[in-house]
Amino acid sequence: MSLPTFGPTGLQNVHDDAPHGYAVVRLDYRVSRDELFAALVLGFTETDPDRDPALMTVEEVRGEVESTLAGHSFTEVWRVIEQLRDGSFSPWQADRLEGLRQAMGRAYPVASVPRCPAAHPEDPTPCDGPPVVTVLVTNTTGANGCEHHAARMLASLEGGRVYALPDAPAGAAIRVFKAAATIRPFVWVERGEGQ
Ligand SMILES: [Zn+2]
Repeated sequence: MSLPTFGPTGLQNVHDDAPHGYAVVRLDYRVSRDELFAALVLGFTETDPDRDPALMTVEEVRGEVESTLAGHSFTEVWRVIEQLRDGSFSPWQADRLEGLRQAMGRAYPVASVPRCPAAHPEDPTPCDGPPVVTVLVTNTTGANGCEHHAARMLASLEGGRVYALPDAPAGAAIRVFKAAATIRPFVWVERGEGQ
């Protein structure tokens, strides 16, 4: 499984006792969201807990995580995860943790899952499968889409048409056509009062 990969942003273990480097050893860590957050909290707390997380740059956040992973065992990271799950924090600590969560979001954004071309950029919903149909806007322009987004696109067009792609499962175009009839145009746009 391919995961989004961040870093390294810096070299670890740089110190005066060993002025001449011998080799650079690369190491990749696969971390869960909880482990990543715990590593950031641990590094932030040990380096200087009085900083404002909102002022940390992406490089600083990643550097903190990387040096924590380089210098601590996973037993220690897991101890922090358990403390965080325990959840007994002062308002000040809770505020710091929220700031660190936002800092983590900046430095390690959630990977956006690619969607089919029929998905409208403002429609936040995910695909319900691979592209199986083409929705034609005119005779020559259109977009391939999963059944879900194709139906929403078709519902938003005047006189659009839908055709199954060659390897589509049976009935895909008809399902999209029928579903589109039950969907209002631009269904992802929230309706205001009285509409
Ligand atoms: Zn889709």
